[in-house]
Amino acid sequence: MALPDSFIQELLSKNDIESVASSYVAFKRRGRNLVGLCPFHGEKTASFNLYPETNSFYCFGCGAGGDVITFIKRIENLDYIDAVKFLADRSGVKMPEQTHENDQISRLRLRILEANREAARIFHAALYRPEGKVALDYYHSRGYTDATIKHFGLGFAPAEWDYLLKALRQKGFKDDELIAAFLAARGRNGGTYDVFRNRVMIPIIDIRGNVVGFGGRVLDDSKPKYINTESTLAFSKSRNLFALNFAKNAGRELNLCEGYMDVIAMHQAGFTNTVAALGTSFPEEQMQLIARYADRINLIFDADGAGQKATRRAIDNLRKTGLDVRVVTIPNGKDPDEFIKNNGAAAFKLLLDRAANAVEHRLLELGKNHNLQTSEGKLAYYHEAAKLLAVLDSPVERDLYAGRLSEILSVSKEAILQEIDSVRQKKQRQEIKQQLPNLIRQEKREMQSVNPDAVKFERAAAAEESLLGTLILHPDYIRQVRATLPAEQMMTEFNRGLYQRLLDRDRQGLLVELAFLAADYDEAGMAYIARMVRDVGDRIVNPEEVARCAAVIREEYALRHMNDPSSASDEDIQAMMEALRKRKQ
Ligand SMILES: [Zn+2]
Repeated sequence: MALPDSFIQELLSKNDIESVASSYVAFKRRGRNLVGLCPFHGEKTASFNLYPETNSFYCFGCGAGGDVITFIKRIENLDYIDAVKFLADRSGVKMPEQTHENDQISRLRLRILEANREAARIFHAALYRPEGKVALDYYHSRGYTDATIKHFGLGFAPAEWDYLLKALRQKGFKDDELIAAFLAARGRNGGTYDVFRNRVMIPIIDIRGNVVGFGGRVLDDSKPKYINTESTLAFSKSRNLFALNFAKNAGRELNLCEGYMDVIAMHQAGFTNTVAALGTSFPEEQMQLIARYADRINLIFDADGAGQKATRRAIDNLRKTGLDVRVVTIPNGKDPDEFIKNNGAAAFKLLLDRAANAVEHRLLELGKNHNLQTSEGKLAYYHEAAKLLAVLDSPVERDLYAGRLSEILSVSKEAILQEIDSVRQKKQRQEIKQQLPNLIRQEKREMQSVNPDAVKFERAAAAEESLLGTLILHPDYIRQVRATLPAEQMMTEFNRGLYQRLLDRDRQGLLVELAFLAADYDEAGMAYIARMVRDVGDRIVNPEEVARCAAVIREEYALRHMNDPSSASDEDIQAMMEALRKRKQ
């Protein structure tokens, strides 16, 4: 990466990890470190650790870790260079002129965004040409006003194989760029054609105002009903929400609908705090995104089977983020668009205000499955409801719903609370039992993908990582180690590369610190390195300990590379014997 060290140094001095991360995570001080709820995975107990002294973070729950640039990369969904720009903007540090044209990916990403912006203009303009009348009529038939069409930049992709292609080629875009943007595709015969044909086009705009993708809907009942931009360099479905660019400024309450069309209708009716998930799977990243912009979320899903399933899945994921989750049930199974059309915005507002919170909703749903006139039905409901309420972490909430349940079942509230308590205790014991091996397995899996050699050379890898963590924390030891441990003696490839980098930086008189590595490693790599640093942590480091690690590495190396003992030197043989002896212990 071409950014000069002096610039990165200034950037780091003005963006200490504590002040940067504190605008995303509420921390509590624990000794010299800070802990909070991890912004990268849903959790209720804090396992996200911030180490101001080493300017690094590490999450014991999901294994995320790294320096301040990696933190911004992940939380703002940016690539390395944009994360650096973000921090520079934030702290008023001037970006250096980009001298190297090395960043091809960054450039392609920019071209994709430009192509998308042009495409959105072309699709929108097509609406007002003869070939687009059919689409304009479609929008009008849905009740969209011209102001709404303009506000959302809605458009039309005519029924031709190269309508967009021709227009964008003329503007200087290459076919490869358009394919990378998911605007065009390559046919079997090698030709290129438009992905979106004969569809009304809805641009997806991110919170920074970039057109990152499109949803394209058919005008009739043909299939597939929607074609959506798939993952590109500029777009990830799970890290975006439709209309969040408008909704993010509308307060700390969001409405979540199923589709683009519902969202547009809702905005037109004045509910500008409405967004849609892009897809029905509700990945955790999307929930985190919602939690960043809202304290309360109203789920507005169709009453059909798929909608109900989606609601339940969303509730489960959203609850984990600590949001106040409400469920809006629209009478007679209508979607919000229809309901507003028939009953007006004021009536819909009433629905929103009355929205049952998620627990109530589930309690009522559960009640429908049982015949509460019979004692068997009541008992089954009692047990299931207790299980449901046991999930609540707030004692106030448990008390509240135990009260409701006691009214429904005419059982004393105390008895219900006791039942809930015993379910909770049982569950907690199970969870601890289940989670531990999972977490360990997960960490192992992730580590293996970064440094697969570590499994093969366990003893060497442990010594290497202990040594590397030490060198990053205490670079003054690099000189001592350099003299006795050449890089090629590190057994595992990842560690060897890292060690070489540290040696190089030190030789060039450059600073050694975690953040300077962010340009060279991806998120998984940075997490791996952050873990080494964390493991060294507060351990007292002395020259003997450093020498011991280096000795272990040398021994292991000798052991693997001495095929022919007759040609080995006395020292080599001694190291080999030593290694063998220690392994047996
Ligand atoms: Zn985490």
